[in-house]
Amino acid sequence: MKHVKYGKCVKCGRTYSAVPDLTTCACGGILDIVYDYEYVRAHLTKEKLAARPERSMWRYRELLPVADSTEPTPLRVGWSPLYEEPRLAEILGLKRLWVKDDGQNPTASLKDRASAMAVAKAREAGASVIACSSTGNAASSLAGNAAAAGLSTYIFVPSRAPKGKVAQLMTFGATVISVQGSYEETFELSKQAIDRWGWYNRNAAINPYLSEGKKTVALEIMEQLDWQTPDYIAISVGDGCTIAGLWKGLKDLYAIGFIDRLPRLISAQAAGCCPLNRSIETGEDWRPMEENTLADSIAVGVPRNADKALMAIRESDGLVVNVSDEEIMAAQKLLGRTCGVFGEPAGVTGAAGVKKLCEAGVIGEDNTVVSVVTGNGLKDVANAIKSCGEPISIPSDMDRLLAAFAERRITVD
Ligand SMILES: *Cc1c(COP(=O)(O)O)cnc(C)c1O
Ligand SMILES: [Zn+2]
Repeated sequence: MKHVKYGKCVKCGRTYSAVPDLTTCACGGILDIVYDYEYVRAHLTKEKLAARPERSMWRYRELLPVADSTEPTPLRVGWSPLYEEPRLAEILGLKRLWVKDDGQNPTASLKDRASAMAVAKAREAGASVIACSSTGNAASSLAGNAAAAGLSTYIFVPSRAPKGKVAQLMTFGATVISVQGSYEETFELSKQAIDRWGWYNRNAAINPYLSEGKKTVALEIMEQLDWQTPDYIAISVGDGCTIAGLWKGLKDLYAIGFIDRLPRLISAQAAGCCPLNRSIETGEDWRPMEENTLADSIAVGVPRNADKALMAIRESDGLVVNVSDEEIMAAQKLLGRTCGVFGEPAGVTGAAGVKKLCEAGVIGEDNTVVSVVTGNGLKDVANAIKSCGEPISIPSDMDRLLAAFAERRITVD
């Protein structure tokens, strides 16, 4: 990989050759993949990119840590739509607002970007089995992307994972271990099993290539905005790998001269589980928190990527915002009604954060904002049904329909 220099520990600075099964530093720190930006600049131009037919995350090959000979993974991951939302912008009082719907990935979450990368690297490593622990989406995306590539998977999920996500896992043929305990305990068991059996490790806190996959969301946003930097990009945060990847992609583009300024990040967490945001707010080291939110994908009491995430928020001069479950569910409805985008609770937490910051007057009519929806609402229908109530239920009878409309003051003409 001529365009990749090495993996560099974010804690102690030690560097490691970028082998396919690279994990963490001897000091325990997570590695960051460092590129030769001179080389990338010489081989990638905006024009070259614009002419490229590939409509997936693999269109950004020069900025991805894969060998030239590595094939794109089979499922179409990435190139999700970026919708401008003028009506929602007006409701919130923003100058311009875009929604990036990453729920449209093949297994319906942004995690597909990391899992496709894991599958590509596992193939480079010659592995035939991949494993991970996950709050749900990393698992279902790994299972799907691996199945398409003919690899088998062992997946550890906490027993609270929503049924939709577990159904995906079982359908994709994963061996699923539902751990009766927290995400923390789930992660620990997966770690022991991976050590014992030597499976390829798709845990985002350990495998430094995964945030390189996730960063493609930033590359796409900027290309879709014709390289015009928005003031803010909002995203939900659990382990912190996603926001770190987002920031990495933006810094890559800045380093190769594709954008001339960097946006500020908005880190949105659930009020019931916000160890990273709390650390930014208090200026103290992060401490574990209970996992007290219905946004299961970001219910992460012990964030595995705290170092990279906190660095991303700080470096970008970012904002942090914590939202209650009620605010999350209100944002789910608002996005559904004004944009036709249905996100799972963790998927719309970024948008809930944007709404809250607008209402508090922290951001407003001078600002342009991109809000990333990180997962599809069909993943967790139980909470959506609870929050939206019941439909009109009547027999096939016009009189009953008229009566029902009258009762609910619905006027039709
Ligand atoms: C995993 C996930 C996140 C958060 O990503 P982290 O890397 O854990 O911070 C947000 N939303 C959804 C839908 C997710 O699946
Ligand atoms: Zn180190």
